[in-house]
Amino acid sequence: MAKAFASAGDMDDKTVSFTEIGEGLYAFTAEGDPNTGVIIGDESVMIVEAQATPRLARKVIECVRSVTDKPISHLVMTHYHAVRVLGASAYGAPEIIMSDVARAMVAERGQEDWDSEFERFPRLFQGHEEIPGLTWPTTTFSEGMSVYLGKRRVDIMHLGRAHTAGDAVIWVPDQEVMFSGDIVEYHSACYCGDGHFTDWEDTLAAIASFEPKSIAPGRGDALVGEEKVAEAIANTADFVASTYKPAARVVARGGTLKEAWDAVRAECDPKFKDYAIYEHCLPFNVARAYDEAQGIDTPRVWTAARDKEMWAALQG
Ligand SMILES: [Zn+2]
Repeated sequence: MAKAFASAGDMDDKTVSFTEIGEGLYAFTAEGDPNTGVIIGDESVMIVEAQATPRLARKVIECVRSVTDKPISHLVMTHYHAVRVLGASAYGAPEIIMSDVARAMVAERGQEDWDSEFERFPRLFQGHEEIPGLTWPTTTFSEGMSVYLGKRRVDIMHLGRAHTAGDAVIWVPDQEVMFSGDIVEYHSACYCGDGHFTDWEDTLAAIASFEPKSIAPGRGDALVGEEKVAEAIANTADFVASTYKPAARVVARGGTLKEAWDAVRAECDPKFKDYAIYEHCLPFNVARAYDEAQGIDTPRVWTAARDKEMWAALQG
């Protein structure tokens, strides 16, 4: 029997955890669904990642209100993906921060990505009727910027390409805690369909060089303590390399996409089969690895139609 497309077969609600990962810092996680970070300053709150819909964002706000009454003043998006950004309207009118590359990706492929992710994640997009449109930043940065939430400084930085070309990480120096977006995942597959495999490892090394005490990853449980952080970074690096290297070997000998698919599966299934969204991500990851190994630097735009065509060719 053919597998349900992407995450269309995953309709069961996930259990939410709201974990303190430093003083005044929280990770909203939900068993491999997209995470959100919370940074409480002296007068106001910064949210990292908006969620897919205003409905999901309100679940985050409910958790925030269990720990603080301060207003939400800032919303940072680590990248342009629909499941991260389209819930933004629930937070009122905060300052919305993205890298300039992420903003360019909203302009170039934001609508296509929305249409495509809508079909990939029907559960996350329940209540989508409320989404007012694409989410645009009010502030952008190139390499990095600092926001002062009163005395608390928050550094927002682009450390290199990885999950997308415009990835940002958020660093809270007073607690040495990082919000990594989808550059780091924990027991969840990395989505590499818009990724840059050969840069990803260096970007992970750049994150590790901060020696974070905790990380809120893009998906999966909060990583509290240096041991957990190191484990997740190593697992993520292994996932990315185990996807790219077999595909690149197939490309080097002139093999087909289907051969790359078989080679990546042989390498990844034994290690990552039980990771969240593994089967969902695999065809997109192989398709992108195959392109990158052929020298295609800019990931091709995914559309709802291209999604289905590729799924039928590989997972069908
Ligand atoms: Zn993403």
